[in-house]
Order: sequence, then structure tokens, then C-alpha cells
Amino acid sequence: MQNNFSKKNLASGFLDNAVEYLKGVGPKKAEILQSELGIFKYRDLLSYFPFRFIDKSMVSRVVDLFPESGNVQLRGLLSNIQVQGQQKSKRLTAILRDESGFIELIWFKNYQYIHKVLKENERYTVYGKVNSFNGKLSISHPEIKLYSKEDDVKEKPMEPIYPLTEKLKSVFMDSKFFMQSVEQILHHPEFELPEHIPDSVTKPLKLLERKWAYYFMHLPKDELSRAEAERRIKFEEMFSLAMRSEKSKVIRHLDANGIPMNKSGHLVNEFYHNHLGFELTDAQKRVIKEIRKDMAANSRMNRLLQGDVGSGKTIVALFCMLVCVDNGYQACLMAPTEILATQHFLTLKDQLKEMSVNVDLLTGSSSKKHRQQLLEKLQSGELQILVGTHALIEDVVEFKQLGLAVIDEQHRFGVAQRAKLWNKAGKKPHVLVMTATPIPRTLAMTIHGELDVSVIDELPKDRKPIRTIHREEKFRGEVMNFLKTELMKGRQAYIVYPLIEESSKLDLNDLMTGYDVVCSYFPVPQYQISLMHGKMKPDVKDFEMKRFKDGITQIMIATTVIEVGVNVPNASVMIIENANRFGLSQLHQLRGRVGRGAEQSFCVLMTKDELNFPAKKRIKTMCATNNGFDIAKVDLELRGPGDMLGTRQSGLPDFKLLDLVKDDDIIDLAKRASAFVLKDDPNLTKPENRALLQYLMANQDDYFWGRVS
Ligand code: ADP
Ligand code: MG
Repeated sequence: MQNNFSKKNLASGFLDNAVEYLKGVGPKKAEILQSELGIFKYRDLLSYFPFRFIDKSMVSRVVDLFPESGNVQLRGLLSNIQVQGQQKSKRLTAILRDESGFIELIWFKNYQYIHKVLKENERYTVYGKVNSFNGKLSISHPEIKLYSKEDDVKEKPMEPIYPLTEKLKSVFMDSKFFMQSVEQILHHPEFELPEHIPDSVTKPLKLLERKWAYYFMHLPKDELSRAEAERRIKFEEMFSLAMRSEKSKVIRHLDANGIPMNKSGHLVNEFYHNHLGFELTDAQKRVIKEIRKDMAANSRMNRLLQGDVGSGKTIVALFCMLVCVDNGYQACLMAPTEILATQHFLTLKDQLKEMSVNVDLLTGSSSKKHRQQLLEKLQSGELQILVGTHALIEDVVEFKQLGLAVIDEQHRFGVAQRAKLWNKAGKKPHVLVMTATPIPRTLAMTIHGELDVSVIDELPKDRKPIRTIHREEKFRGEVMNFLKTELMKGRQAYIVYPLIEESSKLDLNDLMTGYDVVCSYFPVPQYQISLMHGKMKPDVKDFEMKRFKDGITQIMIATTVIEVGVNVPNASVMIIENANRFGLSQLHQLRGRVGRGAEQSFCVLMTKDELNFPAKKRIKTMCATNNGFDIAKVDLELRGPGDMLGTRQSGLPDFKLLDLVKDDDIIDLAKRASAFVLKDDPNLTKPENRALLQYLMANQDDYFWGRVS
């Protein structure tokens, strides 16, 4: 076997050999491995893991078998070997007898050859799947071999089963082929996988050595060794990622290019003592403290604020912006839509109306004149807080000195847009990103690795949980009557229609028909109804929003344009039409438009279609819980993190084994381990971390790791 490896190939490392050189592979199969699985080198093959194993350490007794026994291993004496039947139904049969009973073995194919090699009255080990035909058990085409004493001490009790494509199957590149190929690598004297995770991590966590982890992934001794191998490799996958994000945090924290805002000024105090209309929740107080600590430091803040819908993130943002202004810098708040930006602006203006803080709004539809004045005031520093849409990051928008950028509903903005905003000021502003799509904390820290994370995990005390029910179309009358009683109490309501694509005519028709139906239940002039959808001009939308907010209209019929952020505390009923067509996080966002005041709020999920499984599960989940984190978990289960979070775009690697949802304990460990290593040795210059540094430089971008900060 040794001859297969040319000297030249050895020079670049044993594992960099092309798979072609393995016995039984050759150029033809190597090409198929490349095109089907992207396997070029030994190391690629080594990372192609089996997805399950057959346990051959168990020997069953015939008497214990039943039709659903599945794959079993038997041991016994072979007899009655004979060819039966005529022509096409010709087959070879034999009887295997152990101390408990007997079972028939059958071969339909290749039986002449098998007939020749099987011996009467010899002991055999047999492996195969139990069939049942008319109540009679048998095994077709079993693996069979003469029993030898060594079989009792199985060297390979767990037989790997590799994932195969149709193409691979058609050319007989089966699990055995993979096993034999990988074995050649694993058993070669030059097979070595240097350890890169330092002892200070592997020892306390009892992680399997790297080499053995790969070995046991393919050839485990038993289930325990396989599980240990898997744990090690999952850890390794996360550890590399965590090292990178922890390192960028370290660089950021060490970099004194931030704007320290350590003055505790009068605006914050005045607002807190005289103008805040309610008591902050403990969670709000905690995150404000975390953020203020970041803002006071010499390094730039880059923090994610997670909080369920209605948890009160806006007021936290306001506090931070006041801190910024108190310290002599400008702040901006960017929202994904005009409606939201406008609403934020109006809220801030209202909350600050008795204080001398200069706030303004910039969106795509700001008038030329207003824009001109605004930009001048921004440059002179007269304007202190600027609210807006992504119009804020246009090049013409120049701050005198931007100190804090708050970005609301982060999932709508791309990373590139964010980066652009950061680069606006000479000194880089602190950045606070707020998201209402709560995801489990470990997952958030994985996906937004370069951010520090704060969580508001508590709702204001006066909130009554929203009651959510599911109603089919045939109960529309009942639902409309219920709505009537709520409106009579002075409440307001939203009725939302799906508009999957802004341009979809069908959906728009749905909305307009729905509007007519609702109008027939709630006739003017007794009732006033607002209508809003994405195709309307911004000023028309603003007008309708304002009418609803001011209580002039009682019902707001809309598409998902009202999905995020809209805040009308008097609205207490949310009816979602065709609820099965919405995703879970969208449903939760929509529901979050109610339950913002002290009144009991309701959410009605209407459906008319037959529901498929995921839709049923989504609706059931919505009716069962109001907790955004719990809902996110179900959403993750249903959709997977890739779909839910758009991780494809987020630059997360494709993990071979790590499951971002289920492996949160490993994720947590790896995160902590990487922070621990970097705390002690931020540049990885200590000898014990040299291998890690080399590994990261080779596998990530070496400039990043080569940098000394
Ligand atoms: P979200 O986190 O979804 O952005 P908002 O910031 O819009 O939530 O807050 C929702 C509503 O709750 C607003 O009307 C806000 O004024 C109110 N609110 C925020 N914090 C508190 C609190 N501690 N006590 C009572 N009401 C609060
Ligand atoms: Mg909000």
C-alpha cells in the first residue's frame, strides 16, 4: 500500500494526497468522488462521516426474532443447502439452526456461486434483515461467513453506513467502499492529525484527541467512543468560529478608537426623574447599565439588544441617545420602514417635548427644503438626534460628530448597510442593534459572534398576556360580533391580510375583498375603517396611520406593512386572515401590535384552507404561548436555522456535524473556552497556543490572525 504514495505528495502532507492513490479507488472513482461529493484529498474523505452504524456486537437467538426485528446477527449450524424452484423462481435456500430454533436463509441472485462456497454442517455467522412471509421468518441475501473464534472479539462491532447518492449506488461505490478507503488512511503509519486545541481546553473538557476523534467517527469501538468523537468534532467546529468572533471582540475592545461617553449628564437625569411616565422593568435597567458601561469605554460598542415584542426597547434606545447627547455627540436611530421611522420620531418628540433636545426625521419622502435645512443643522451639530430610514446612510448625510447609531429591527438590514453607517464619522460611533426576532441566546451569540448581546427578558408589569384563538372561516360571523363588542368598549382593531409579494395581484384582491366584507359588518358612518398596503404612497400611509393612532378610525385593515414596531396601545384586537400563510415569527410580530396597553388583548387566527402539518403546528404554538423565545425555538425546529435566520448570507460556515439548535451546550462551552484562551493570551503568542494560531491562520484569514493589536 505504501507504494501508492509518491514522494512529491508526501511533501505537502500525507492528508493532501489525492484519493485516486487509494487502493480500490483509482482515477475513475476519484472523479466520481469529486463530482458527487467534492472529495479530492484524503482529508476530504476523512471528513465524510457515516450517518449511522450497524451494531454487530449483538448476537440474537432465533427464538427471539419477530417480523420487525430489523437487522440481526445470528450464529448457528448451516444445513439443508439446496436450490429450489423452476427457472425464474429458482433460488438457493439453507437452514440456520442455533440452540433456540431455526430460520431459513434465501438467495435469489448469484446463488450458483454462493452454493459452491457454503458448507453443510459448519458453524456460520449471519447478518441480515428479518423478513416475514405468511408468518414465516426468513433472511434474504444475508451476509454470511464461516464462524471463527475471533468473531467473538469483534474488532469492528460497529459497521459504518455512509450517505450515498444514486450515482454512487449505481456504480457500486457503497458503504463498504468508503469504509475500505477510509481505513487505508486511518491505518497508514503516516496518518497523523496534529492537535490544535490547547491542553488548557481539551483536558478539563475531556475532549478526545483530534486524531482519535476522526478515527472513531469512522471506526468506533462502541457507541460511547462514537459519541465522544462526535462531541469533539462538533466542539472543534464551533471553537474555530468562536475564536474568530471572540478575537474580533478582543481587537475591538483593545482598540481605543471609540468615543468614551463617561459623563453622566443632566438630560438623562431630567428625563428619568421628570418625564418618564412609568417605572422601568428590572430587565430594562440591567441592559441600560450594560450599554452605558460599553459607551463609557474607550473602545467602540457593538451590541445587540434582544427583546421580545413589546418589551420596551425604544425607551432603552432613548436613554442611550440621551447619554450620547449629554456627552456632546449626535445620535441617530435607523428604522427599516417609513412608518416605523415616523412613529419613532413622533414618540421621541413627544417624550422629549418638555426638554431642549433637537430631534428631526429624515426619510425618502422628506421634502427638498426640509432636507436641506436638516442637513445643515446636522453638520453644524445643532441637530442632536436624527431618526430615519436608510436614507440616513446616503453619502450626503454628514454628521458633525456621530457618537451613537441605533438600528431598530436589525434583521431587515444587511451587514453592508450597517458597516456603511459605522464609517460615517471620523471616530467610529457606538452601535446598538435592536432586534425583535428573539432567538436562543447561544444561537444569537453564534450568529452575531462579533456583537456583545444584551437581553430584555421581561415585559412591563401591567401587561396582560394576549389571548390567542384559532377560528375557521365558517365562524366569521361570530368573530365579527366579538369584534363589535370590543369596539363598543372603545378599543381598536387590526385585520391583517397576507401579502407575500408586494406586487401580487391575487393578494391585493384578497385584501380588497376582505375590506368589503368587513365594511358590510361595520358600516360607515357608525364605523371608520383605515386601509393600508405597501403599494400606497408614503404620505397616504402616514395619514392612515395617524388617523388610526388618533382613534379616528377603529379598524385598520392592512397587509404586513404594519408587521414591525407599530405602536397603538389602544388597539386590543388583532385578526390575522389566512393565518396559515404566515411564518411563525411573522405571526408573533403581528400579534405584538396588540397587548401594548393595560387592556386585555386578543388575537384571532383565521383560516379557510385545509391546514398542512407545519401550519397546524404554527397555529397551535401561537395559541399556546406568548413567549417569543419559545416561539423562535419551534420556528427553528420547523424551518431550520438557515431558513429562519438567513444564515446563508450571514457568513456562517456549513457545519458538518454541529447543529446550531440542538447543540447549544457545546456552543456555549466552545464560546467560553475561546474567551478563556484569548483572555490569557490575546495574540496567541504563548508556546502552548502556537498550534492553535497556526491552525487558525491556515484555515481562516491569516491577516486577521497575524495582526498584533
Ligand atoms: P418593542 O420592544 O417592541 O420595541 P416598545 O419600545 O415599542 O416595544 O414598547 C412598547 C410599549 O410599552 C410602548 O408603549 C412603551 O411606551 C411601553 N413601555 C416600555 N417600557 C415600559 C415599562 N417599563 N412600563 C410600562 N410601559 C412600558
Ligand atoms: Mg420596537
